[in-house]
Amino acid sequence: MAEKITARSEDYSRWYTDVVQQAQLADYAPVRGCMVIRPYGYSLWENVKDGLDRRFKATGHENAYFPLFIPMSFMQKEAEHVEGFAPELAVVTHGGGKELEEPLVVRPTSETVIGHMYSQWIQSYRDLPVLINQWVNVVRWELRTRLFLRTMEFLWQEGHTAHATYEEAEEETLRILDVYADFAINDAAIPVIRGRKSESEKFAGAYMSYSIEAMMGDKRALQAGTSHNLGQNFAKAFEIKYLDRNNELQYCWTTSWGLSTRMVGAIVMVHGDDQGLILPPRLAPIQVVVVPIWKSDEEHSAVLDFVQKIKAALGETVRLKVDDREGLSPGWKFNEWELRGVPLRIEVGPRDVAGGQVMLARRDRPGRAGKSPAPLAGLAEAVADMLALIQKDMLATATAFRDANTHLAADYESFKEIVGEGFARAWWCGSTECEDKIKEETKATTRCIPFDQPGGTGVCIACGEPAKEMAIFARAY
Ligand SMILES: [Zn+2]
Repeated sequence: MAEKITARSEDYSRWYTDVVQQAQLADYAPVRGCMVIRPYGYSLWENVKDGLDRRFKATGHENAYFPLFIPMSFMQKEAEHVEGFAPELAVVTHGGGKELEEPLVVRPTSETVIGHMYSQWIQSYRDLPVLINQWVNVVRWELRTRLFLRTMEFLWQEGHTAHATYEEAEEETLRILDVYADFAINDAAIPVIRGRKSESEKFAGAYMSYSIEAMMGDKRALQAGTSHNLGQNFAKAFEIKYLDRNNELQYCWTTSWGLSTRMVGAIVMVHGDDQGLILPPRLAPIQVVVVPIWKSDEEHSAVLDFVQKIKAALGETVRLKVDDREGLSPGWKFNEWELRGVPLRIEVGPRDVAGGQVMLARRDRPGRAGKSPAPLAGLAEAVADMLALIQKDMLATATAFRDANTHLAADYESFKEIVGEGFARAWWCGSTECEDKIKEETKATTRCIPFDQPGGTGVCIACGEPAKEMAIFARAY
């Protein structure tokens, strides 16, 4: 640490990169577009992973692993899929010093190889549903990259399920969307909008895509997780069939769904301020940092003795770090842990020791306003309550920000202003022409057609034709 973080108002994109690097979440790798996830960032990702993995297992899913290399011919079996992914593929043409007979694609996503395996594993309706997830890396040859938000290689989970009916596949797709929303809201403290993707924004090869959309600190949108009902597209391309109860051969209905390390970027952008990261307690690698304050040697030993009592009182209830490094001032340490987003700081000096108490300082409420004393007796409870309150307040703050920057567009003129400054809710006829026109003229895209609809009908914001649904439009990452 040492360099100053660019203010968000000055240059949001530089602020983001400064925070990610200086908080030691990630760094640039020698290969352009790749990133190194540092231990602090990886620990944050592990907490994201744990929160999701627990939910996947609770809804009946199992983890497995499929290979990194996919035969090129697999990618070409589903027409829309190959068209969507062709420009982003990394292809291995040589191995062991020889040119390969068939090039291998480095997995950009695994519908094809998993479809191939499912066609061998599934024979009868008794084999269904198949509910598998994998935690892996994927590669997409991106030209413009940004740490966590868009990198050539990233980490994610991809779920792939197979079902006997369309209804079951649709139910699964929406169940996972709810899992993502529940995680985003309750663990990441990020309010999200659930909705359906437009035809042009859906996944390559999907019958229907759904997403959760969030507003970042610069009022732009970020798609934080997607869930796809693949219909029978991949089942037909890969011959995933089963014998039904009447002994008739049927194609399966499949789904896929993913959430990636982009979520880490979202956490940075939704909650961070000019001092750096603010991490939600549920996901923070360090939830509480204790900073002892002393001047003389005598104070030093008295304060450190008291810190032992704090440690004993908190026990294993929180992810705790004691910063007893010598030769660094308390103020310097405060800044460092603020930059790194630790939700709660416990300050303890000679006067606190004498009074049998500590000072709690909330990261999400900088300065005096976020400070309150707490006695050593009952500290574990006070800290647990405080962390729960921070978690709740962070969600409330992010929700208030998003709602204050989301507006109903009455006409195209006001629409243009709104999407320059946040999310616009607007009637849309559903045509790709109108979407394209809006994108060209305002740089805003349809983020989703939210499940939450006002009812009734209106007129399309772009063409004035009748519209049955409202969409959320915004400039997006
Ligand atoms: Zn229209």
